Amino acid sequence: MSDCLFCRIVARQHPADIEYEDDAVLAFKDIYPKAPVHILVIPKRHISSIAQLEPGDADLIGRCFVAARSIGEAKGFGEKGYRINVNTGPEGGQVVYHVHFHFTAGRQRGPAA
Ligand code: AMP
Ligand code: ZN
Repeated sequence: MSDCLFCRIVARQHPADIEYEDDAVLAFKDIYPKAPVHILVIPKRHISSIAQLEPGDADLIGRCFVAARSIGEAKGFGEKGYRINVNTGPEGGQVVYHVHFHFTAGRQRGPAA
C-alpha cells in the first residue's frame, strides 16, 4: 500500500468525498474546508510537489486546471469566480506531498498574499 495519503484516495484505499474524476485527475472535498467550497484537485499519478515537476508533467498539470474549470462551471462559479492555490515546499505551507490544487469559492476575499 502506498504511504501517500492522496495515492491511497486515488486507489480507494482511503475514504474521500469525490467531486470529479476522469482518467487522469481526481477531485475531492478538503476534509478541513477553509471556504464554503473547498475542493482538492490532484493528478492521479503521483508527483510530490511543484518543486519536483518535470517537462513531461506539463500536460497532466494542465489537465488539473481544465478539471478545475469544469468543477467551477458545474458548481455555478464560472462567472462569479473562484481561486486556485498551490502550496509548495515547507515554507510554502505544503503538508501533503502529492501535488494538489486548492479550489476555493463562495466567499469574497481579498487578493492572495
Ligand atoms: P497543503 O497544506 O497544501 O499540503 O494542503 C493539504 C490539504 O489536505 C489541507 O487543506 C488538508 O485539510 C487536506 N487534507 C488532509 N487530509 C485529507 C483527507 N484525508 N481528505 C481530504 N483532505 C485532506
Ligand atoms: Zn501520491
